[in-house]
Amino acid sequence: MADIIIKYGREKSLLHHHPWIFSGSVKQIIGSPKPGETVDVISTAGQFLAKAAYNPHSQITGRVWTWDQTEQVNPDLLEARFKQAIELRYKMGAMIQSNAMRLVHGESDGLPGLILDQYGDVLVVQFLTAGVEYWRDSIIDILQRLTNTHFLYERSDVDVRKLEGLPLSTSLLIGHDLNNPITITEHGIQIFVDIFEGHKTGFYLDQRENRLLARRISSGRKVLDCFSYTGGFAINSLVGKSLGITLVDSSGTALNYARKNIVKNNLSMNNITFVEQDVFKYLRTLRDKGEYFDMVILDPPKFAPTISQAERAARGYKDINLLALKCLNKDGYLMTFSCSGGVSEDLFQKIVAGAALDAGVDAVIIDRLHQAIDHPVALNFPEGAYLKGFLIQKLN
Ligand code: SAH
Repeated sequence: MADIIIKYGREKSLLHHHPWIFSGSVKQIIGSPKPGETVDVISTAGQFLAKAAYNPHSQITGRVWTWDQTEQVNPDLLEARFKQAIELRYKMGAMIQSNAMRLVHGESDGLPGLILDQYGDVLVVQFLTAGVEYWRDSIIDILQRLTNTHFLYERSDVDVRKLEGLPLSTSLLIGHDLNNPITITEHGIQIFVDIFEGHKTGFYLDQRENRLLARRISSGRKVLDCFSYTGGFAINSLVGKSLGITLVDSSGTALNYARKNIVKNNLSMNNITFVEQDVFKYLRTLRDKGEYFDMVILDPPKFAPTISQAERAARGYKDINLLALKCLNKDGYLMTFSCSGGVSEDLFQKIVAGAALDAGVDAVIIDRLHQAIDHPVALNFPEGAYLKGFLIQKLN
């Protein structure tokens, strides 16, 4: 087996069981491992630190499989990790009131770069790193045996694969025909999910609890749902008896699904407006028209996948939050989110505070929002907590 030797002093994060080895920490590679192959990770002093998946093409040269020298990295280990992850969701039971959930959340479930989402009896998998790509055939075999699924689809068409030197791909792994879009039930609401063409694996499962919160606080409010996608927040607001809702998204396909979702749930189309536009532009139009809302939801896509893009992302977040705060009535709610790995919760709070200051708005955070519980975070992997948000109330 090949070895990665870690520079003197750089072994600390590994000793704290953080699973990433950045290229800057690597002193030497001994042997000639291929992308995805397992290597031993050794300190300059010769101490065993971990076993990791090697990737020469990524800034993250190694992703740890285990800190235990006696543990073999093989299909048995992978199967044990999958079992543990799926059992964890099973134990969450009634806490997830949906038949759609994330079964495996990458590093936090001990499977770096592996995402597995369940939509009813259909599974969608993403292989995002060289390590899981290397074990791909074993993983498909394990999933077939562990889940008995009749349909497994691969959505490895995600840009982060490029950072790993992997091509983008989609493929049918198990099954034949599928009635796509499928319908899931979340907190009693039915939602169409297009697993082939939809974003990510088809739906934003991570916002489940926050959508329910929107339902609880929408009553009597005129709501603006920015970056609405297929209407997850909007439908909940309608069920929560909002007075009317405007959905804004740049994707006409997403808005068409939102329309179908509203009909599917027997909700009235009265006072619903669909706007196929850039949110940055539309918020300016609202400002210029002087139109106001009692609740604004801002759930934009990832502006900063990594820390290096945080500054540009911060400008984007500040811009939309400032405009949203300006078009809120007194006592209005702002539900604002960032799913950028490169923007911490602290930084996000500072950005929103700066936006409020510039907008001349007094406001308080009345709730801190995070990803749903089926997206757990390994204690030593803070990067796993990527979704952060605030429920803010405007005071003036
Ligand atoms: N809130 C949704 C998920 C939002 S995902 C839910 O709970 O399901 C982000 C959405 O923003 C996508 O639908 C994407 O089409 C849209 N989008 C991305 N950039 C945009 C822009 N500049 N203006 C408007 N919509 C945008």
